[in-house]
Amino acid sequence: VDRVDVLIVGGGHGGAQAAIALRQQNFAGTIAIVSDDVHPPYERPPLSKAYLSGARSLEQIFIRPVTFWADRRVELFLGRRVTRVEAKEHRVVLADGSSIGYGKLIWAGGGHPRRLSCEGHELKGVHSVRCVADVDGLLADLQSASRVVLIGGGYIGLEAASALRKLDKQVVLLEALDRLLARVAGKALSSFYLAEHRAHGVDVRLGVSVAAIHGESGRAVGVRLADGTVVDAGAVVLGIGIIPSVEPLKAAGAACSNGVDVDEQCRTTLEDVFAIGDCACHTNSFADGARLRLESVQNANDQAVVVAKVIMGAPARYEAIPWFWSEQYDLKLQTVGLSTGYDTELLRGDPATRSFSVIYLKEGRVLALDCVNAPRDYVQGRALITSRVIVPREKLSDVSVALNTLAGPAANQTRPPASAVK
Ligand SMILES: Cc1cc2nc3c(=O)[nH]c(=O)nc-3n(C[C@H](O)[C@H](O)[C@H](O)COP(=O)(O)OP(=O)(O)OC[C@H]3O[C@@H](n4cnc5c(N)ncnc54)[C@H](O)[C@@H]3O)c2cc1C
Repeated sequence: VDRVDVLIVGGGHGGAQAAIALRQQNFAGTIAIVSDDVHPPYERPPLSKAYLSGARSLEQIFIRPVTFWADRRVELFLGRRVTRVEAKEHRVVLADGSSIGYGKLIWAGGGHPRRLSCEGHELKGVHSVRCVADVDGLLADLQSASRVVLIGGGYIGLEAASALRKLDKQVVLLEALDRLLARVAGKALSSFYLAEHRAHGVDVRLGVSVAAIHGESGRAVGVRLADGTVVDAGAVVLGIGIIPSVEPLKAAGAACSNGVDVDEQCRTTLEDVFAIGDCACHTNSFADGARLRLESVQNANDQAVVVAKVIMGAPARYEAIPWFWSEQYDLKLQTVGLSTGYDTELLRGDPATRSFSVIYLKEGRVLALDCVNAPRDYVQGRALITSRVIVPREKLSDVSVALNTLAGPAANQTRPPASAVK
């Protein structure tokens, strides 16, 4: 094709949802998705969960059946990479030298996994968990590897640990900080998951840093720590975060800070260019108006819907409440809100029962909840975040009181002064 009305770069959650939402809004123009992945859009969360453990196949993680895209007149250019955006000309250039013009461009490039920079980082057997090809490569190594070293104690590392234990692999998990999930959760949740992983046989080592990957015949066989200890490894898996994939936008002059900057309608500073999902740095009202990127399916989907509406000329702005989930062993964690900047964490329920919630507060207001096997708290707790009410702590932690009864005017509560409501 020479030109499409809406060109979407990235066939992940955001890109797929943008196309779906445009058709749902009755957009009649031409739509194409260019993705450097060879597969049609698929769900990423199972890559560290059911796809890694073998419980779900590739077809079972497709976002839509393969026929959907043609049925909805969404053209897929798979295995193709955009290397340049020519913003004035409204055109992108692909790695093979071809180009496609656009009316509107939606950039949904997500991020690429952060790699190690130490000696041995390029050895075979060092894996990331970002796309199907990554996990297929890891699964191939697991045929012969019985021991896996995971680097990074965030959600992806922990989920991979759980999936690998299901496959009966020996797992060592290395985390540089002194607790798990340190960037995303409070201490109560960190301690809970540490105990769970250890109880499931994962050798978790905190406060350790990786000095080098040891190799034999070009393949990783061990990880050397800063103190000189060498941990044997049949395979190494990295879960140390992503770098937003925005290089072509940046080179085209889009304002970029942490990813690409967007306004509340997900517009970049380039004309007719939007950005959504993991790569989009936006102002979030659930973080007191801080600018940040969210790495979640919710954010990618909701921003995609906003852009579809904006393109259709409907009033829309991104103001969705953030939510997220994680699955490890038989534990389902559901998070709602953003805990950034909390001053107090409250326990609701007893972690020993493996069903409890952690409530994060700032100046008495509920910012976020982490609910472990506690779906009711997750559903009912949202209203506390959106209503911004101040509720007595003893009520929040009293499991006999349903959280949604605390958000309404009938509850015994005081509202924060108007000046505190942003
Ligand atoms: C293992 C794993 C587990 C996760 N678990 C959860 C979870 O439990 N819950 C949750 O809410 N979120 C989870 N996430 C996060 C969630 O998957 C992401 O937030 C979501 O995929 C972001 O969607 P996106 O469209 O912004 O980016 P992506 O889904 O990453 O899609 C971006 C696509 O764009 C392609 N691309 C990039 N640059 C170019 C280019 N120049 N040309 C062509 N194509 C390009 C990329 O290759 C990729 O295919 C998980 C992520 C991973 C990796």
